[in-house]
Amino acid sequence: MSEKRSNFPLPLSSVTGTGTRKPAAPAPVATPQTATQNARSNSQATAARSGAHGAHGVPAPAGPSQPQQTLARSDLMATEAPRRAMAARVARQGVKDPQVLAALETIPRHLFIEQALSAQAYTDVSLPIGHNQTISQPYIVARMIELLKGSGKPLQRVLEIGTGCGYQAAVLACVAKEVYSIERIKPLHELAKANLRPLRIANLRLQYGDGMLGLPQAAPFDGIILAAAGLDVPRALLEQMAIGARLVAPVGAQVQHLQRIIRTGKSEWTSETLESCHFVPLRPGIV
Ligand code: SAH
Repeated sequence: MSEKRSNFPLPLSSVTGTGTRKPAAPAPVATPQTATQNARSNSQATAARSGAHGAHGVPAPAGPSQPQQTLARSDLMATEAPRRAMAARVARQGVKDPQVLAALETIPRHLFIEQALSAQAYTDVSLPIGHNQTISQPYIVARMIELLKGSGKPLQRVLEIGTGCGYQAAVLACVAKEVYSIERIKPLHELAKANLRPLRIANLRLQYGDGMLGLPQAAPFDGIILAAAGLDVPRALLEQMAIGARLVAPVGAQVQHLQRIIRTGKSEWTSETLESCHFVPLRPGIV
Protein backbone atom coordinates (compact mmCIF):
# COMPACT_ATOMS: atom_id res chain seq x y z
CA MET A 1 0.00 0.00 0.00
CA SER A 2 1.59 3.20 -1.12
CA GLU A 3 1.53 6.12 1.27
CA LYS A 4 1.71 8.84 -1.38
CA ARG A 5 -1.48 9.47 -3.33
CA SER A 6 -0.56 12.65 -5.05
CA ASN A 7 -2.98 12.05 -7.93
CA PHE A 8 -6.06 12.40 -5.72
CA PRO A 9 -8.32 15.20 -6.90
CA LEU A 10 -8.72 17.74 -4.13
CA PRO A 11 -6.29 18.43 -1.34
CA LEU A 12 -8.37 21.01 0.49
CA SER A 13 -5.30 22.43 2.10
CA SER A 14 -4.22 23.69 -1.30
CA VAL A 15 -7.39 25.67 -1.99
CA THR A 16 -7.90 29.21 -0.75
CA GLY A 17 -11.20 30.66 0.36
CA THR A 18 -13.28 33.62 -0.72
CA GLY A 19 -16.50 35.18 0.54
CA THR A 20 -17.61 35.89 4.05
CA ARG A 21 -18.90 33.58 6.71
CA LYS A 22 -22.17 33.78 8.52
CA PRO A 23 -22.56 35.23 11.99
CA ALA A 24 -22.52 33.07 15.09
CA ALA A 25 -25.47 30.79 15.73
CA PRO A 26 -27.90 31.76 18.47
CA ALA A 27 -29.08 29.44 21.24
CA PRO A 28 -30.41 26.03 20.21
CA VAL A 29 -34.10 25.15 19.76
CA ALA A 30 -34.93 21.46 20.07
CA THR A 31 -37.04 19.65 17.48
CA PRO A 32 -37.67 15.92 17.86
CA GLN A 33 -36.55 13.65 15.04
CA THR A 34 -36.59 9.91 14.57
CA ALA A 35 -33.01 9.32 15.55
CA THR A 36 -33.33 11.64 18.52
CA GLN A 37 -36.14 9.47 19.79
CA ASN A 38 -34.04 6.40 19.09
CA ALA A 39 -31.22 7.99 20.93
CA ARG A 40 -33.38 8.61 23.93
CA SER A 41 -34.49 5.01 24.10
CA ASN A 42 -30.87 4.03 23.62
CA SER A 43 -29.80 6.57 26.16
CA GLN A 44 -27.16 5.71 28.73
CA ALA A 45 -25.62 7.53 31.63
CA THR A 46 -23.68 10.64 30.72
CA ALA A 47 -20.54 9.59 28.96
CA ALA A 48 -17.23 10.24 30.56
CA ARG A 49 -15.93 13.42 29.07
CA SER A 50 -12.35 14.08 28.35
CA GLY A 51 -10.54 17.07 27.02
CA ALA A 52 -8.92 14.91 24.35
CA HIS A 53 -9.00 16.28 20.87
CA GLY A 54 -8.71 14.40 17.63
CA ALA A 55 -5.16 13.74 16.63
CA HIS A 56 -5.84 14.67 13.04
CA GLY A 57 -7.39 17.42 11.06
CA VAL A 58 -8.50 19.75 13.83
CA PRO A 59 -9.22 22.95 11.97
CA ALA A 60 -7.05 25.96 12.52
CA PRO A 61 -8.72 29.35 12.30
CA ALA A 62 -7.01 31.63 9.84
CA GLY A 63 -4.43 33.96 11.25
CA PRO A 64 -3.91 37.57 10.23
CA SER A 65 -1.26 36.53 7.71
CA GLN A 66 -3.92 34.84 5.56
CA PRO A 67 -6.52 37.52 4.85
CA GLN A 68 -8.20 35.40 2.15
CA GLN A 69 -9.16 32.80 4.76
CA THR A 70 -12.45 33.83 6.31
CA LEU A 71 -12.89 31.65 9.40
CA ALA A 72 -12.75 34.22 12.14
CA ARG A 73 -11.52 33.26 15.59
CA SER A 74 -14.36 35.31 17.10
CA ASP A 75 -16.89 33.34 15.06
CA LEU A 76 -15.48 30.10 16.45
CA MET A 77 -15.39 31.42 19.99
CA ALA A 78 -18.95 32.74 19.83
CA THR A 79 -20.24 29.27 18.97
CA GLU A 80 -18.09 27.38 21.45
CA ALA A 81 -20.77 27.20 24.16
CA PRO A 82 -23.55 25.87 21.88
CA ARG A 83 -21.09 23.35 20.41
CA ARG A 84 -20.13 22.15 23.86
CA ALA A 85 -23.81 21.91 24.84
CA MET A 86 -24.53 19.93 21.67
CA ALA A 87 -21.72 17.46 22.41
CA ALA A 88 -22.90 17.09 26.02
CA ARG A 89 -26.43 16.33 24.77
CA VAL A 90 -25.10 13.72 22.35
CA ALA A 91 -23.13 12.19 25.23
CA ARG A 92 -26.33 12.01 27.31
CA GLN A 93 -27.98 10.27 24.36
CA GLY A 94 -25.46 7.45 24.70
CA VAL A 95 -22.39 8.29 22.60
CA LYS A 96 -19.37 7.59 24.79
CA ASP A 97 -16.28 7.87 22.64
CA PRO A 98 -14.37 10.93 23.93
CA GLN A 99 -12.61 11.50 20.59
CA VAL A 100 -15.95 11.61 18.75
CA LEU A 101 -17.44 13.98 21.34
CA ALA A 102 -14.36 16.19 21.13
CA ALA A 103 -14.73 16.28 17.33
CA LEU A 104 -18.34 17.49 17.70
CA GLU A 105 -17.10 20.25 19.97
CA THR A 106 -14.44 21.18 17.45
CA ILE A 107 -16.26 21.39 14.13
CA PRO A 108 -18.38 24.54 13.71
CA ARG A 109 -21.64 23.07 12.35
CA HIS A 110 -23.11 26.49 11.64
CA LEU A 111 -20.58 26.91 8.81
CA PHE A 112 -22.29 24.06 6.95
CA ILE A 113 -25.81 25.46 7.16
CA GLU A 114 -27.36 28.32 5.29
CA GLN A 115 -27.71 31.50 7.26
CA ALA A 116 -31.53 31.41 7.47
CA LEU A 117 -31.27 28.13 9.41
CA SER A 118 -28.23 28.90 11.49
CA ALA A 119 -30.37 29.34 14.65
CA GLN A 120 -30.80 25.57 14.52
CA ALA A 121 -27.17 24.72 13.80
CA TYR A 122 -26.51 23.23 17.24
CA THR A 123 -29.84 21.50 17.74
CA ASP A 124 -30.17 17.77 17.18
CA VAL A 125 -31.96 18.03 13.86
CA SER A 126 -31.25 17.24 10.25
CA LEU A 127 -31.64 20.38 8.11
CA PRO A 128 -32.08 20.98 4.38
CA ILE A 129 -28.95 21.73 2.35
CA GLY A 130 -30.62 21.99 -1.07
CA HIS A 131 -31.20 19.44 -3.86
CA ASN A 132 -33.62 17.55 -1.58
CA GLN A 133 -30.75 16.52 0.69
CA THR A 134 -30.08 17.14 4.38
CA ILE A 135 -27.23 17.60 6.81
CA SER A 136 -27.47 14.68 9.25
CA GLN A 137 -28.32 15.14 12.94
CA PRO A 138 -25.30 15.55 15.20
CA TYR A 139 -26.41 12.52 17.23
CA ILE A 140 -26.50 10.18 14.24
CA VAL A 141 -23.18 11.53 12.90
CA ALA A 142 -21.56 10.81 16.27
CA ARG A 143 -23.26 7.46 16.72
CA MET A 144 -22.21 6.19 13.29
CA ILE A 145 -18.62 7.32 13.74
CA GLU A 146 -18.51 5.68 17.15
CA LEU A 147 -19.79 2.44 15.59
CA LEU A 148 -17.18 2.77 12.86
CA LYS A 149 -14.37 3.21 15.38
CA GLY A 150 -15.29 0.44 17.78
CA SER A 151 -12.86 0.04 20.61
CA GLY A 152 -9.97 -1.12 18.46
CA LYS A 153 -7.00 0.73 17.05
CA PRO A 154 -7.38 4.28 15.69
CA LEU A 155 -9.01 4.65 12.30
CA GLN A 156 -6.61 5.00 9.42
CA ARG A 157 -8.20 5.35 5.98
CA VAL A 158 -11.93 6.03 5.89
CA LEU A 159 -14.39 6.47 3.02
CA GLU A 160 -17.64 8.40 3.35
CA ILE A 161 -20.40 7.99 0.77
CA GLY A 162 -22.53 11.15 0.55
CA THR A 163 -20.50 14.26 1.36
CA GLY A 164 -23.55 16.52 1.26
CA CYS A 165 -22.49 19.81 2.84
CA GLY A 166 -19.29 18.25 4.24
CA TYR A 167 -20.06 18.32 7.97
CA GLN A 168 -19.69 14.62 8.73
CA ALA A 169 -16.54 14.48 6.60
CA ALA A 170 -15.03 17.23 8.77
CA VAL A 171 -15.97 15.36 11.96
CA LEU A 172 -14.50 12.15 10.54
CA ALA A 173 -11.27 13.97 9.71
CA CYS A 174 -10.83 14.64 13.45
CA VAL A 175 -10.87 10.94 14.28
CA ALA A 176 -9.27 9.23 11.27
CA LYS A 177 -5.87 9.62 9.71
CA GLU A 178 -7.16 10.01 6.14
CA VAL A 179 -10.70 10.64 4.97
CA TYR A 180 -12.11 10.36 1.45
CA SER A 181 -15.65 11.52 0.78
CA ILE A 182 -17.71 11.08 -2.39
CA GLU A 183 -20.77 13.08 -3.50
CA ARG A 184 -22.87 12.37 -6.60
CA ILE A 185 -24.54 15.81 -6.90
CA LYS A 186 -22.09 18.27 -8.39
CA PRO A 187 -23.44 21.45 -6.73
CA LEU A 188 -23.27 19.73 -3.33
CA HIS A 189 -19.71 18.60 -4.00
CA GLU A 190 -18.93 22.26 -4.76
CA LEU A 191 -20.83 23.43 -1.67
CA ALA A 192 -18.83 21.05 0.53
CA LYS A 193 -15.58 22.35 -0.98
CA ALA A 194 -16.62 25.92 -0.19
CA ASN A 195 -17.79 25.04 3.33
CA LEU A 196 -14.63 23.13 4.16
CA ARG A 197 -12.11 25.52 2.61
CA PRO A 198 -11.82 27.88 5.61
CA LEU A 199 -11.26 24.92 7.92
CA ARG A 200 -8.17 23.86 5.96
CA ILE A 201 -8.42 20.20 6.85
CA ALA A 202 -5.34 18.58 5.37
CA ASN A 203 -6.35 14.93 5.76
CA LEU A 204 -9.67 15.16 3.88
CA ARG A 205 -10.13 14.53 0.14
CA LEU A 206 -13.38 15.18 -1.71
CA GLN A 207 -14.43 13.31 -4.83
CA TYR A 208 -17.32 13.95 -7.21
CA GLY A 209 -18.70 10.58 -8.33
CA ASP A 210 -21.00 7.65 -7.65
CA GLY A 211 -20.18 6.36 -4.21
CA MET A 212 -21.93 3.08 -4.91
CA LEU A 213 -18.82 2.20 -6.88
CA GLY A 214 -16.58 3.14 -3.96
CA LEU A 215 -13.15 4.58 -4.64
CA PRO A 216 -10.99 1.72 -5.90
CA GLN A 217 -7.95 3.95 -6.41
CA ALA A 218 -7.76 4.63 -2.64
CA ALA A 219 -8.96 1.20 -1.38
CA PRO A 220 -8.71 -0.75 0.85
CA PHE A 221 -10.38 1.24 3.62
CA ASP A 222 -10.35 0.58 7.36
CA GLY A 223 -13.77 2.12 7.64
CA ILE A 224 -16.64 2.99 5.27
CA ILE A 225 -19.61 5.08 6.30
CA LEU A 226 -22.72 5.71 4.21
CA ALA A 227 -24.77 8.87 4.72
CA ALA A 228 -27.59 7.66 2.46
CA ALA A 229 -29.76 4.54 2.68
CA GLY A 230 -29.78 1.77 0.09
CA LEU A 231 -31.86 -1.42 0.07
CA ASP A 232 -28.58 -3.20 0.64
CA VAL A 233 -24.90 -2.34 0.84
CA PRO A 234 -23.26 -2.17 -2.61
CA ARG A 235 -20.95 -5.10 -3.32
CA ALA A 236 -18.14 -2.77 -4.49
CA LEU A 237 -18.00 -1.23 -1.00
CA LEU A 238 -17.78 -4.62 0.70
CA GLU A 239 -14.89 -5.50 -1.62
CA GLN A 240 -13.06 -2.26 -0.79
CA MET A 241 -12.97 -3.01 2.94
CA ALA A 242 -9.65 -4.14 4.39
CA ILE A 243 -9.77 -7.36 6.39
CA GLY A 244 -10.93 -6.33 9.86
CA ALA A 245 -12.51 -3.12 8.52
CA ARG A 246 -15.96 -1.89 9.53
CA LEU A 247 -18.74 -0.43 7.44
CA VAL A 248 -21.69 1.46 8.93
CA ALA A 249 -24.71 2.17 6.77
CA PRO A 250 -28.42 2.94 6.99
CA VAL A 251 -30.25 0.16 5.11
CA GLY A 252 -33.89 0.08 4.02
CA ALA A 253 -36.53 2.21 2.32
CA GLN A 254 -39.38 3.58 4.47
CA VAL A 255 -38.15 1.54 7.42
CA GLN A 256 -34.41 1.83 7.85
CA HIS A 257 -31.93 0.44 10.33
CA LEU A 258 -28.27 1.08 10.90
CA GLN A 259 -26.23 -1.90 9.83
CA ARG A 260 -22.66 -2.58 10.87
CA ILE A 261 -20.61 -4.95 8.75
CA ILE A 262 -17.17 -6.28 9.65
CA ARG A 263 -14.95 -7.96 7.07
CA THR A 264 -13.60 -11.00 8.83
CA GLY A 265 -11.81 -12.66 5.90
CA LYS A 266 -11.17 -12.46 2.18
CA SER A 267 -14.68 -13.73 1.42
CA GLU A 268 -16.29 -13.33 4.85
CA TRP A 269 -18.29 -10.53 6.38
CA THR A 270 -20.42 -10.42 9.54
CA SER A 271 -23.34 -8.08 9.90
CA GLU A 272 -25.41 -6.71 12.76
CA THR A 273 -28.61 -4.70 12.56
CA LEU A 274 -28.90 -1.88 15.07
CA GLU A 275 -31.29 0.98 15.79
CA SER A 276 -33.79 2.45 13.35
CA CYS A 277 -32.88 5.64 11.52
CA HIS A 278 -34.03 7.92 8.73
CA PHE A 279 -31.76 8.90 5.83
CA VAL A 280 -32.13 10.21 2.29
CA PRO A 281 -31.88 7.47 -0.36
CA LEU A 282 -28.64 6.18 -1.85
CA ARG A 283 -28.92 6.67 -5.60
CA PRO A 284 -26.78 5.44 -8.48
CA GLY A 285 -24.99 7.65 -11.01
CA ILE A 286 -24.00 11.29 -10.91
CA VAL A 287 -25.96 14.50 -11.49
N1 SAH B 1 -22.69 13.61 5.13
C1 SAH B 1 -23.71 14.62 5.13
C2 SAH B 1 -25.06 14.06 4.85
C3 SAH B 1 -25.41 14.23 3.44
S1 SAH B 1 -27.01 13.64 2.98
C4 SAH B 1 -23.64 15.42 6.43
O1 SAH B 1 -22.59 15.77 6.82
O2 SAH B 1 -24.64 15.73 7.01
C5 SAH B 1 -26.57 12.28 1.98
C6 SAH B 1 -25.84 12.61 0.72
O3 SAH B 1 -25.60 11.38 0.03
C7 SAH B 1 -26.57 13.50 -0.27
O4 SAH B 1 -25.82 14.64 -0.52
C8 SAH B 1 -26.70 12.64 -1.51
O5 SAH B 1 -26.58 13.36 -2.73
C9 SAH B 1 -25.54 11.69 -1.33
N2 SAH B 1 -25.62 10.44 -2.11
C10 SAH B 1 -26.68 9.64 -2.35
N3 SAH B 1 -26.32 8.61 -3.14
C11 SAH B 1 -24.99 8.77 -3.40
C12 SAH B 1 -24.03 8.05 -4.17
N4 SAH B 1 -24.37 6.95 -4.85
N5 SAH B 1 -22.77 8.50 -4.21
C13 SAH B 1 -22.40 9.63 -3.55
N6 SAH B 1 -23.26 10.36 -2.82
C14 SAH B 1 -24.54 9.93 -2.75
